[in-house]
Formats: sequence, structure tokens, C-alpha cells
Amino acid sequence: MVIRLKQLYNIVGEKVCLDHVIDSERLNEVKGFTFSGPIAIKGTAVNRAGIVSLKYSAEFTLHICCDRCLIEFDRDYCFDFEHILVRSLSSDNYSDEYIVTENDELDMDELALTDCLLSLPSKMLCREDCKGLCPECGADLNQGGCNCGDQIG
Ligand SMILES: [Zn+2]
Ligand SMILES: [Zn+2]
Repeated sequence: MVIRLKQLYNIVGEKVCLDHVIDSERLNEVKGFTFSGPIAIKGTAVNRAGIVSLKYSAEFTLHICCDRCLIEFDRDYCFDFEHILVRSLSSDNYSDEYIVTENDELDMDELALTDCLLSLPSKMLCREDCKGLCPECGADLNQGGCNCGDQIG
């Protein structure tokens, strides 16, 4: 979804509500992650005293393969994001929180996807203390383990 920002930039007090989904077709293009459904986006962009701020939440479910034990599962996520939209950056307002828009338009799908992917951990585990698989026999050590350790001892 592309949000048109011209009115937002020009009129103090102007507000745009976002209620939108990024569909599976678009999400299938994301490398390295499998989404179990669409990403639901809800939020507002508002011009307060000439500053346009964007606040939104993104909710989605990822289909994950645990990095250690390879079990597959679904996990729900909900993230909140906040940005300030500007037409151009000057040296005194440079910050990650600023989003520079071109032609007074914002590609909301792209922004939300980037925000979400950056918020995810680099390692996906089924649980914090996942014991993983035995390097010898491949047994799932979360399920009680195997006898490999005994034989070495
Ligand atoms: Zn695991
Ligand atoms: Zn083993």
C-alpha cells in the first residue's frame, strides 16, 4: 500500500488512519522467512505542529524451523513502530527514526517489512534453552537425550 502524504505534510492537524494487510503473495518474496499468513498493520500518521509522525503496529505469524533442533512451529509476533516522516533530511535532524519520502508518497509495505525483519532475532529457537540435536546420533535432546554421552564416558 502506498500512502499519499501531500495533505499530511501541508495541513497541520491532518490525520490518516492505517488498517491494512500485506498479503501472502508479497510475503512469499521475502527471503529467509516463511509467513503463515498476512501481516496486519494498524496505525496512524498525523501532522502535529508541522511534524508528521507515523505510529503503527504489525501483527503476523511466522513459520519457523528451530536453528538447533530443527523442529517446525508457528510463532505470533506483534511489534510497535514509530517514525517521523520528512520530505528531506537536514544535518540537524539526521536519525534512524526519520524516514525520507519521495514524491510525498510512502510505500507502507516496504517500510513495515523492513521494520519487522529488523526486529526479529537472528537466531530462531523453539525456546531459549533448546538443547538441540545430538551431534552423534541426531536424537532430539529436548526429548530426554540419547546414550552417546554414556558411551564416551
Ligand atoms: Zn529447538
Ligand atoms: Zn546421541
